[in-house]
Amino acid sequence: DRAAVAYFGAGPSALPTSVLETAAASLVNHNGSGLSLVEQSHRSALSGQILQNARDSFSKIINASADTHTVLFMAGGGTLQFSAVVYNLFTAWALKHPELAEKGQRGTCEYLVTGGWSSKAAEEAKRLVGEENVNVVLDTKNFHHAGEAKKFGNIPEAGQWKNNLKAGKDSAFVYFCDNETVDGVEWPKGTPVDTLGEDPDRIIVADMSSNILSRTFDASKFGVVFAGAQKNVGSTGVTIVLLRNDILKLLASGGSLPPKLTPQIPVTPVMMHYPTISKAGSLYNTLPIFDVYIASLTLAKLLQRDESGKTALQQQEDESNAKASLLYGVLDKYENIYHVVPAKSVRSRMNICFRIKEPGDEAKFLKGGEEIGLLGLKGHRSVGGIRISNYNAVGVDSVKKLAVYLEEYAKGI
Ligand code: PMP
Repeated sequence: DRAAVAYFGAGPSALPTSVLETAAASLVNHNGSGLSLVEQSHRSALSGQILQNARDSFSKIINASADTHTVLFMAGGGTLQFSAVVYNLFTAWALKHPELAEKGQRGTCEYLVTGGWSSKAAEEAKRLVGEENVNVVLDTKNFHHAGEAKKFGNIPEAGQWKNNLKAGKDSAFVYFCDNETVDGVEWPKGTPVDTLGEDPDRIIVADMSSNILSRTFDASKFGVVFAGAQKNVGSTGVTIVLLRNDILKLLASGGSLPPKLTPQIPVTPVMMHYPTISKAGSLYNTLPIFDVYIASLTLAKLLQRDESGKTALQQQEDESNAKASLLYGVLDKYENIYHVVPAKSVRSRMNICFRIKEPGDEAKFLKGGEEIGLLGLKGHRSVGGIRISNYNAVGVDSVKKLAVYLEEYAKGI
């Protein structure tokens, strides 16, 4: 029984039961058509409408206008975007600086490494364009926190890393991961874009896979934002890419298919080429429309939040913050039992990573939770410990139930 279970998995993660029920019916007979949605052509009017709905709802929620931004749906997860941003934005750099590209230059891309996912993205860039063209502006892997080294447990103030940035005109893009799912580290709201945006020539790229739609952000500040759907938006299979139109236009000036510019600029594989995907309305090839449908239902549900003078996203943000505060509150109250891994200033509201101080007691904690229907709490295999994922579909009631368990466990009840 779904109602008996509270699920805190890190992704794929909880989805609203009402969304799953609608999707389940559609899997057999979509809207009385006699066909399953997975049997329908991705080019049918019906699929087109689903895509349009998802696109419109997403843009509306984040307050991004079609005049300035384009929303793409792509397959390949967040991981494909690690490569796609490199291919596309080095191409954009070469199109913008033909005189430099002709001299054999290729620009530099810049990474703020604050956890496992941004680290992977930076490694992919090094593979694609060579280590010498990747500027690691910041790497918190060895940042000491609470006496422990080699943990992505903190992010230093901008003053400590901003001088490592190149001038915007020399940089193909600057990349950061807004929320590090494995390490439980989230950039405080409004950072680091405030610092990166000081130079208007800088193209800012953000991986928001695990915190998109959990707080407001100013889309106008970003060149590219991407997020796999399987945490806050829907099911595994589609990734949302938000792209600034001036970048898209520059890329499209290179031709309708990926151009071969100079030997130094890698040719973008066609499935990653943003103008190709955009021109085809995200249907260059067979997109998993069923996953777009699930996303469209979740997005519509988020938009339904009653207007109390606050936008739907602002309300979601308030709720996410309240749920996270409740959990951190209990963990802090029993600091003789629990140890929250990251520093307070960068604690993620989405992935709450902590250890049970008593060695060997984590299995006991997990087992006790499972017995009362609290599931998906095991930390990522690379770091261990406990991780509570507090995504949008994790209800306030589930969080309250978990908070009670944390209290009782700490008191030895
Ligand atoms: N970025 C972040 C922040 C993630 O959490 C994940 C997956 N958990 C990825 C990228 C990779 O996404 P995918 O598995 O969809 O390729």
